[in-house]
Amino acid sequence: MTDSRSKFPPRSVLFLSTEVYPYAKTGGLADVSAALPQELRELGHDVRVLMPKYGFIGEKKQKIHLINRLQGMEFKVGDRVVTGNVKSSAILTQKTRIQMYMLESEEYFQRNGLYVDPATGKDYADNDERFLVYALSAFELCRRLMWKPDIIHCNDWQGGLVPALLRGALKDDPFFAGTKTVFTIHNLAYQGTFPASSFAKLGLPNDFLDPDGLEFYGAISYMKAGIACADAVTTVSENYAHEIRTAEFGNGLDGLLNKRKRDLYGILNGIDLAVWDPAKDVNIVRPFSIDDLSGKEECKKDLCYSMGIPYTEGRPIIGMIARLSDQKGLDLVAAIMENIINSGAQFVLLGSGEKKYEDFFAKLQKRNPEQVGAYLGFHDSFAHKIEAGSDLFLMPSRYEPCGLNQMYSMHYGTIPVVRKTGGLADTVIDIDAATRRTGATGFSFEKYDARAFWKALDRALQTYHNDKNVWRQMQLNGMKKDFSWDRSAVRYAEVYEKVLGASKGPRH
Ligand code: ADP
Repeated sequence: MTDSRSKFPPRSVLFLSTEVYPYAKTGGLADVSAALPQELRELGHDVRVLMPKYGFIGEKKQKIHLINRLQGMEFKVGDRVVTGNVKSSAILTQKTRIQMYMLESEEYFQRNGLYVDPATGKDYADNDERFLVYALSAFELCRRLMWKPDIIHCNDWQGGLVPALLRGALKDDPFFAGTKTVFTIHNLAYQGTFPASSFAKLGLPNDFLDPDGLEFYGAISYMKAGIACADAVTTVSENYAHEIRTAEFGNGLDGLLNKRKRDLYGILNGIDLAVWDPAKDVNIVRPFSIDDLSGKEECKKDLCYSMGIPYTEGRPIIGMIARLSDQKGLDLVAAIMENIINSGAQFVLLGSGEKKYEDFFAKLQKRNPEQVGAYLGFHDSFAHKIEAGSDLFLMPSRYEPCGLNQMYSMHYGTIPVVRKTGGLADTVIDIDAATRRTGATGFSFEKYDARAFWKALDRALQTYHNDKNVWRQMQLNGMKKDFSWDRSAVRYAEVYEKVLGASKGPRH
């Protein structure tokens, strides 16, 4: 990395993410928001991260402390003034130290859910205000620190107001005159839409409530605010960057994304090898590596034990870890479950989410206690055990912006069976006559239907049982792949340079 490092002048970057591992996590965004700032720091940038301090984040455990000059901030929410503090913490790794800032607000963030109320399963009714205050705190933080960021890098709809506020309310503020924004879409389907009446709370000029701004089919969209107003828009794989410009994947924003296509970049996520490495993983019973895979069998035994299913040598275990939402292709999994059971394979699932899926897997486990293990909840170390102990890993997603689990799987010698969409298409090489010799890493299918899915999984099971050499070669191919962050971090740094070099932004 030494070469690319010297390529970039050091920049100050405020990175905004509403989930960061290990503080708070609901999905891949948390992993990305911990790893990418570290890599950017390695490139020489001064990267600091701002996230909300949720009710479940322990101050002692995470060594969170007060900073005098960041206390008693005031934010305007419509006619109301609300107060909050920003506190400090740090992610310390062997390589680097990342300054974490945490927005503390009794009223908005002292809760157990991030975006959804765990008691009702519904979005918090005041999410419009919560993520307005979060956006406002970014500016107040910089002012109080007297730190002028070159870049504010915002993620997903929760950070979408930042580029809009910078172009609207703060347009003539000299403090931010040199600041540019980068907005990253991790999942376009979650948009942060609110009634048009919420617009009055934001303090934006009225003309932002138009179809080129926040207005979205009679409502307002924070995702749209980010896309319309940021200096550059990125998303988490090249393929998804193309897909979201089509009506099928565009969620109503494909028109705008096409308009912004010159400023839209697809940059594949990486995996954090400090957290996901079978040779060093503290969550698994026996480390293993490409040079010696023997520990993987021990991990398989341990997985069976942890999931309460019997271990049998030579019997494949099919793993799955997912938010239980329609996105993840769970209806296809349900549709082929009988085939899986009849094949004699075992199936283990870790997931939480929609009740209909939780009920389905709970029942399935009850009916097939020898073959099915299901943990319905969020459990970080279990996720590592599944990646390490499974033979196959399922991701039959309807859409998948990038997907991290297929990369974790390949790195752990676990062969993914995926639908060819989004980042799954960019990262998994299906086995066919040609790739058999050149480096296949998994099995994939295109059409979103149960037959196509089963055909791919059946091919995988046949290979597992009948073609052990090919299986081993595919495991090694996957483990050899370089999914590290450094290349992608360089691409983000290039986007930063590009927007800093451009004189004018997209709007107003
Ligand atoms: P998404 O961001 O759409 O949820 P990704 O594959 O990009 O999907 O990332 C999911 C991340 O969340 C992975 O790190 C995965 O291990 C983790 N994860 C998902 N569900 C659970 C769960 N129930 N328990 C522990 N980790 C989970």
